[in-house]
Amino acid sequence: MKILVAVKRVADYNVKVRAKSDNTGPDLANVKMAINPFCEIAVEEAVRLKEKGIATEIVVVSIGPQTAQEQVRTALALGADRGILVTTDTDLESLAVAKCLKAVCDNENPDIVLLGKQAIDGDNNHTGQMLGALTGWAQATFASELSIDGDSATVVREVDAGLQTIQIKLPAIVTADLRLNEPRYASLPNIMKAKKKTIDSTTPADLGVDVAPRTTLLKAEPPAERQAGIKVEDVAQLVDKLKNEAKVIS
Ligand code: AMP
Repeated sequence: MKILVAVKRVADYNVKVRAKSDNTGPDLANVKMAINPFCEIAVEEAVRLKEKGIATEIVVVSIGPQTAQEQVRTALALGADRGILVTTDTDLESLAVAKCLKAVCDNENPDIVLLGKQAIDGDNNHTGQMLGALTGWAQATFASELSIDGDSATVVREVDAGLQTIQIKLPAIVTADLRLNEPRYASLPNIMKAKKKTIDSTTPADLGVDVAPRTTLLKAEPPAERQAGIKVEDVAQLVDKLKNEAKVIS
């Protein structure tokens, strides 16, 4: 069984990203970049399936600038077998990413595509679903448990009302939620071994994908600063402030 895992290069989750002074987008100059945390969970799940003898090959794919090779290399150090880098200097919309992934699926014929449930930069939560639509394959989003049985998979999904268990036919798209697993750290020997693994490079044009944007970013600005709170003397003062200042009760 072949697993394709999509990993995105994003600003490290510890970094407080600021908007550029001209409000044209986030300022990523000199910012530490990393694999999107949900993609790391997807890689870990693929590696566990290989360790269980269910998966035979893990191919990791990233679409982004040449520097996204670092994140592909990290995924290789975590246990993926080979990488594909689709290079572009344009910040792609989800549909363009999904179309590139569809083209990679056509070339690779994976049994499962694992993605993160969302990328923490745009918080879109689009790509897995769009890839499901483009491929026509079954999809299970927000997975917190995944088990494979022959040509089907059972997935426990985190939904608003609790947990939903579904069975899907392979090939399928599965997006990883936070509780699916706890990713391992790459060991030094595995980091060294990963340097020898293959990363094939291609471009959206080579894949025959039109990545022309359909939306225009008009403005990126930080959220309004929260005002400092105050301590009230007693309940009467609290009620007075809620009524006359915040005007949330009458
Ligand atoms: P999003 O729909 O942008 O929130 O992203 C959901 C998931 O789609 C991510 O966790 C990745 O697995 C995948 N994805 C999104 N953008 C990319 C990209 N540029 N390269 C590879 N995978 C991506």
